[in-house]
Amino acid sequence: MRDGFGRNIDYLRISVTDRCNLRCTYCMPEEGVEPMAHADVLSYEETVRLVRIFAELGIKNVRLTGGEPLVRRGIESLVAEIKAMPGIETLSITTNGILLPEKFSSLKEGGLDAVNISLDTLVPEKFDRITRRTGLPVVLEAIDLCLDAGINTKINVVAMKGVNDDEFVALAELARDRNLAVRFIEYMPIGKNDFEKYVPGAEIRRQIEEAFGPMTPDTAPRGHGPALYYRPEGFKGCIGFISAMTCAFCSSCNRVRLTADGFLKLCLQYDIGTSLRDAMRSGASDEEIKDVIIKTVEKKPKEHTFNDWLDAKHIEEKNMSKIGG
Ligand code: SAM
Ligand code: SF4
Repeated sequence: MRDGFGRNIDYLRISVTDRCNLRCTYCMPEEGVEPMAHADVLSYEETVRLVRIFAELGIKNVRLTGGEPLVRRGIESLVAEIKAMPGIETLSITTNGILLPEKFSSLKEGGLDAVNISLDTLVPEKFDRITRRTGLPVVLEAIDLCLDAGINTKINVVAMKGVNDDEFVALAELARDRNLAVRFIEYMPIGKNDFEKYVPGAEIRRQIEEAFGPMTPDTAPRGHGPALYYRPEGFKGCIGFISAMTCAFCSSCNRVRLTADGFLKLCLQYDIGTSLRDAMRSGASDEEIKDVIIKTVEKKPKEHTFNDWLDAKHIEEKNMSKIGG
């Protein structure tokens, strides 16, 4: 499926819930967010139907996210169903890792290909402060489980000035003896977050190279996203940078998003798209839904403008937990 700028769209990120068992400061307010009504959230039958239609349109890679995807009951069977679908090549999940140890074996049995685990600090008290909950040891256990099982594993670190900028080197070091990618994500002003915590990817790279020496580009296939990967000399794993703020990767964007309430969202920064749930629930046939998807995808914006977002129109005001990252 091609968008209006000729980009091939083959990657779908599905948020299966807006609920979460953590309250990360950069993603959710302390009191949480008004949860979507259950009736508004897509049922698994609806999600599976949409994935089948998307697969027929050329989507090959699916990622489940949230909120926290593992808090949604029955997620294991959704994983198995999507992975078994004709046309779907990879199924991955982005998780905070807290429920991963208890659900891991059934997810793996269902065919899960890759796991991204969010981890912003290795200091227990700081973990509790950032997430406003506890659980660092469980997250570390989850990482080991994935690696032992030979699952493609990535760690997502949101870089924040004055919060974890003293730990970039320690976090990068996780990739020294482990075959995983540690990815630094530039803090994004989604949901009107504060800007002063933002650290440019180039600054993180400078710190890492100061500690481990010059890095060389790592071109091994690691996923379908916008991260650029590098490897310091002697490292088993690699270091990734997702520099949404300083280095626009929009010209090669291959993705669209489906929110938990079935909204087909075209770009992280903007609120534009179409409710596929409403189309389905008003009785549209598969062919009619296909038509809605094709017409919507044609309108995918050329690029984001995080750097001058105050002037942009249709800015997304939802927190990241409602979008799925
Ligand atoms: N709960 C899961 C998790 O934390 O991995 C999945 C959903 S979370 C919204 C997806 C990703 O978005 C996480 O890696 C998280 O760190 C990232 N994220 C959330 N808010 C962000 C922000 N303001 N800027 C950059 N990344 C953010
Ligand atoms: Fe929950 Fe993930 Fe948002 Fe943290 S980043 S509050 S774990 S959805």
